[in-house]
Amino acid sequence: MSFPTRAYAAQSSTSPLAQWELDRRALNADDVLIDILFCGVCHSDLHQARDEWGGSIFPMVPGHEIVGKVISVGSEVSKWKVGDTVGVGVFVDSCRTCPQCLAGEEQYCDAGMTGTYNSPARDGSGPTYGGYSTQIVIQQDYIVSIPEGLPLDAAAPLLCAGITTYSPLRYFGVKPGDSVAVVGLGGLGHMGVKFAKAFGAHVTVLSHSPSKREAAMALGADDFLATGDEAVFAENRKKFDLILDTVSADHDLNSYLGLLKLNGTMVLVGLPNPSPVSAFSLIGGRRSLAGSMIGGIRETQEMLNFCAEKGIASDIEVISMDYINTAYERMLKSDIRYRFVIDLASLKA
Ligand code: NAP
Ligand code: ZN
Repeated sequence: MSFPTRAYAAQSSTSPLAQWELDRRALNADDVLIDILFCGVCHSDLHQARDEWGGSIFPMVPGHEIVGKVISVGSEVSKWKVGDTVGVGVFVDSCRTCPQCLAGEEQYCDAGMTGTYNSPARDGSGPTYGGYSTQIVIQQDYIVSIPEGLPLDAAAPLLCAGITTYSPLRYFGVKPGDSVAVVGLGGLGHMGVKFAKAFGAHVTVLSHSPSKREAAMALGADDFLATGDEAVFAENRKKFDLILDTVSADHDLNSYLGLLKLNGTMVLVGLPNPSPVSAFSLIGGRRSLAGSMIGGIRETQEMLNFCAEKGIASDIEVISMDYINTAYERMLKSDIRYRFVIDLASLKA
């Protein structure tokens, strides 16, 4: 029998989030029931709750940076037991048979991954609902383990912001001595700085918030460029091997492409509406413009283990569930250092 679960939902693209009750599916034999402790607030939650990408399904319960405890398991669950501390990221299912799924890159599933929320469930039971809720039911293969030593609240953003920046830095082979720029110092950007530094790169933050200079240096950045000053684009031409662009709002990609060295790559992870790219921005330096989406289950576990080993977690501000609408407004103003994390105890009380 499905069971009622307390949550926070957007009823439409223009309504603020408010308390709502959803139905979680009864556990299948291979399902795990997770009591949610913390859930990070990703800018993708805001994009989707306000239908900025189109196709949003309402009511919507956002949240895909989930950390919790296993409180029940189905009869055929072999990977998890009651009491385990676990995480759930951006997807909860995929086809399991295409080359990407078999290679552990489920986020690039040929049939399309099933998002943790705002996605039709593969069994036809309706839309998925995310981590702004007290409990969630997840098939056992789409869960990761939170290693001991990581603070549970500051680990939650690793499930999206962490893996989304770790994966492209790994894929494009960032190594000691490389010159890496991180554009946008938000939830993703600050994790990008931490990982690029951990991989030995020389890291420059490019930010439209000049007030973030000291904070960027405190995070370990080697350099800071305020992009409000047009001159920085001329003064820093051909400087970077790799640019990781995490910006959530429209901006001119062409000026950033000019900052790449010969054969350099700019990786887009931020998801505003696309701005036009001129071929001239690419050809003069045999440059590449790439994109990258989160990471697979295997790599997410690898990233979490790396974080535990190196003592890396997110810089967070813990909030109660009823603060979420204010948190969204502050996120839009870049007024958060660097990730809001909801303490779900506030929804259980
Ligand atoms: P965030 O915390 O709001 O950070 C975005 C940053 O972009 C801000 O901190 C700000 O940095 C910069 N920015 C904001 N408005 C700007 C403007 N008008 N002009 C220039 N820069 C601006 O958001 P997030 O959670 O890190 O997410 C960032 C983007 O990545 C979102 O679009 C999100 O949907 C996307 N995302 C993609 C994936 C993926 O798999 N590819 C996964 C998760 C999220 P400064 O103040 O330093 O300029
Ligand atoms: Zn996210």
